[in-house]
Amino acid sequence: MTFTTRFAPSPTGPLHLGHAYSALLAHDMAHAANGRFLLRIEDTDTSRARPHWEVQIYDDLRWLGLPWETPVLRQSEHLARYAATLDRLADDGLIYPCSCRRSDIRAALSAPQEGAPGPAIYPGTCRGRPISSRRPGDALRLNMRAALDRIPTPLTFHDSGPIHPGEHRVTADQLLTRTGDPVLGRKEIETPSYVLAAVIDDAGQEITHVIRGADLFETTALQVLLQKLINLPTPEYHHHRLIRDETGKRLAKRDDARAIAKYRADGASPADIRAMVGLKAP
Ligand code: GLU
Repeated sequence: MTFTTRFAPSPTGPLHLGHAYSALLAHDMAHAANGRFLLRIEDTDTSRARPHWEVQIYDDLRWLGLPWETPVLRQSEHLARYAATLDRLADDGLIYPCSCRRSDIRAALSAPQEGAPGPAIYPGTCRGRPISSRRPGDALRLNMRAALDRIPTPLTFHDSGPIHPGEHRVTADQLLTRTGDPVLGRKEIETPSYVLAAVIDDAGQEITHVIRGADLFETTALQVLLQKLINLPTPEYHHHRLIRDETGKRLAKRDDARAIAKYRADGASPADIRAMVGLKAP
């Protein structure tokens, strides 16, 4: 299979040095393998995605010298595809509507709970609700226990990156205690969560290598579970180091000071950006 990777930004703010590193690394690895580099716009979070950020993404990537294939997959144009998967999961009894607000979840979690203390996961308040009771404003959650009844565990995936190299095993216990019942469909009817849309599109675009920041490593267990549930292949993963500021904090969208646009305005060249993130000239 042809080495195929993607850069999949969400147009919710300016691209910063961390994004530049991720896009350049993915591009360079595809180039070295005689493979394909795709760009995907993950704009299903309608409350945060903005057209002007998307325009800025194209502009910054062009300036960095990254060629990508067209047409670009814009997730907002494929909502029916994600909805069909949610319908299938609902028909299989694997998802349920959830009306809990963050404050409800916090309150439920602060009440004494059975079992060992673990990370704060959804306490399952709405788990018994049938899908037919979904009202506008309800999210859709995966019933993790029901999902785990359908597929053999442990799940496995391979990471070729420097931070978590090697074969990884994901156990049922890990998914129950660390992931819980994740949201797969947002409150807005017909919009999928990032985890689900990314899994569907990675398979649809025949992505062989998912190259992305180590901040998404923890999400991989859930994504591999979803691949198994909806019968999609698991790609190779490569989680790379994060670009941090001088205090050691990883860069976030609000770090406008490190936006590529800011460096451009200050007269930096694409070669300067490569050097700043520790990549060699192409
Ligand atoms: N859209 C995600 C983000 O901007 C990246 C998803 C991925 O690479 O899997 O953080």
